Amino acid sequence: MSRILLAGGAGYIGSHTAVELLEAGYEVIIADNYSNSCPEAVKRIEEITGKSVKAYELDIKDTEKLENVFKENKIDAVIHFAGLKAVGESVAKPVLYYRNNIDTTLSLLECMEKYGVNNIIFSSSATVYGEENPVPYTEEMNRGTCTNPYGWTKVMMEQILEDAAKANKDLSVVLLRYFNPIGAHVSGKIGEDPQGIPNNLMPYVAQVAVGRREQLTIFGKDYDTPDGTCRRDYIHVTDLAIGHVKAIDYVLEHKGVEIFNLGTGTPYSVTEIVETFEKVNDIKINHVYGARRPGDLPESYANADKALKVLGWKTERTLADMCRDTWNWQKNNPNGYNK
Ligand code: NAD
Ligand code: UDP
Repeated sequence: MSRILLAGGAGYIGSHTAVELLEAGYEVIIADNYSNSCPEAVKRIEEITGKSVKAYELDIKDTEKLENVFKENKIDAVIHFAGLKAVGESVAKPVLYYRNNIDTTLSLLECMEKYGVNNIIFSSSATVYGEENPVPYTEEMNRGTCTNPYGWTKVMMEQILEDAAKANKDLSVVLLRYFNPIGAHVSGKIGEDPQGIPNNLMPYVAQVAVGRREQLTIFGKDYDTPDGTCRRDYIHVTDLAIGHVKAIDYVLEHKGVEIFNLGTGTPYSVTEIVETFEKVNDIKINHVYGARRPGDLPESYANADKALKVLGWKTERTLADMCRDTWNWQKNNPNGYNK
């Protein structure tokens, strides 16, 4: 059975992907510096699946330490989740973001080349479509102009991986462009655990629900959208994780570069998210409408046809599932993994 290295695998998307890969029979190795996660997440993955996971605490930028992982284990494919992802922080600390996100990618590619590993899946983002492209986004659109350094790191890493595949015909690269992952594993044992004040909508809503934050501010009510608030393509993190299992099956069988949008294809507004969360969980979310957040696009959603056609993957979980599972995780773990 194939052995998959999850770089940044203790994080939100990585931990859910680890569960789905283990349940599909893959062997999983995690390498993470726990800069935005913790070893408890790895324990929970083991608890859910009843399988053991080899975990290395290391900085992926540290090529020497990373090499040990490749030396000690015969790895068939890498999934590269290891990155910093806070948009606002990336504006304040661009050098940190470029250094971390680009160097982790280069370090992985160097080790892969040295140890003859030819398969990599990369966590990209809908943000690479930039400001110019019309919704819904399709994979063959040109990458656009990003509004922040985080987005540019994704554009640059896509380019780096494409160049690497051009130079090495044995390389197989899958770029997965995620839309807005929310929700948590149905067990409530793993979920999103942001440090400090959440930047993203759903963790903020969940923390208001559990009493850690007083009220949500909805950023902007004057967009050219049906209810005036921004619309996004929210996807259940378990559906996203299953998309990675399909992408692993694909990357192991192909060469060259393939890009897939992982989204539902259906946008929901911020107001719809709040209302659905309230209804499904029978709980009030205090909220006010405030100013627009700089850099936000009115709408972002996928055309997800290609993933269905090529990978045989589509989302199965509804917005109600996403809201219910988020609340189940948050109420069972009011302070995240730091109970
Ligand atoms: P996360 O922060 O929960 O997970 C990232 C993991 O990488 C963390 O466990 C962190 O400790 C680790 N990490 C970061 N830098 C590292 C380094 N130098 N060495 C070792 N480990 C390191 O984030 P996530 O939401 O799970 O996102 C995973 C990937 O998906 C990221 O690359 C992110 O940019 C991308 N992505 C996320 C979203 C989203 O909304 N969550 C959307 C699009 C793309
Ligand atoms: N949002 C909001 N209040 C918050 C956080 C987010 O109104 O406290 C809105 C944000 O303006 C955007 C949507 O929720 O329209 C999704 O934002 P998020 O940061 O979760 O994801 P993004 O699409 O920006 O990557």
